[in-house]
Amino acid sequence: MSIAENLNNINETIKKITVSCGRTATDIQLIAVSKKQSSTNIQAALDAGHRLFGENRLQEAQAHWEKHKQNYDDITLHLIGSLQTNKVKEAIALFDVIETVDRKKLARHLSKEMKKQNRYLPCFIQVNTGEEEQKSGITPANLKAFYEFCTKECELEIKGLMCIPPAKDPPALHFALLSKLAKELNLSELSMGMSSDFEKAIPLGATYIRVGTGIFGERENP
Ligand SMILES: *Cc1c(COP(=O)(O)O)cnc(C)c1O
Repeated sequence: MSIAENLNNINETIKKITVSCGRTATDIQLIAVSKKQSSTNIQAALDAGHRLFGENRLQEAQAHWEKHKQNYDDITLHLIGSLQTNKVKEAIALFDVIETVDRKKLARHLSKEMKKQNRYLPCFIQVNTGEEEQKSGITPANLKAFYEFCTKECELEIKGLMCIPPAKDPPALHFALLSKLAKELNLSELSMGMSSDFEKAIPLGATYIRVGTGIFGERENP
């Protein structure tokens, strides 16, 4: 199936699920995760009219999106991978939303650099809902304090939470937890659900789903 057809099918699925769980389809945004995809694939998604994309590495994102952003004025680009502090400056220049605020040092750097560039990006806090050692993100227990730090001390605009559930667990447990944590902080946006599990994330409150292979097919190995 073509990328345009995949996008169409996923949008139809989103509509069906939102109706069946009493939500509104326009409340859910589909982020097309274009990491490790060819220029041809990315162009196909643009040609199909899609404008919301996610990338997890700065350099790769720059290679594709600096030029596309010059040619299309309505692209929105989310950073969904971890960010090193020495790349904050370039990340703020390129991305529109940072979904992976996951430590104090990064929050401080983002704050300083946004002021410098006078470019204030909405942010999400990445939550390590599975408390996995190898995974980045704030643990649920530390979330409230970290949220206060980000909003009060760093003056970041925290819009919501994102998570990547552990592969071994039923994802719904983690989506429900992220949803509960967002409610406690009065945050409206939830970035959760990927190709294999976005259908479970929508009834649990996802406002952004991040779909890569489901749109583009398998990723290339660089
Ligand atoms: C790669 C990636 C996705 C998309 O994964 P698929 O299984 O290809 O849909 C979503 N979120 C993050 C953070 C990713 O790194």
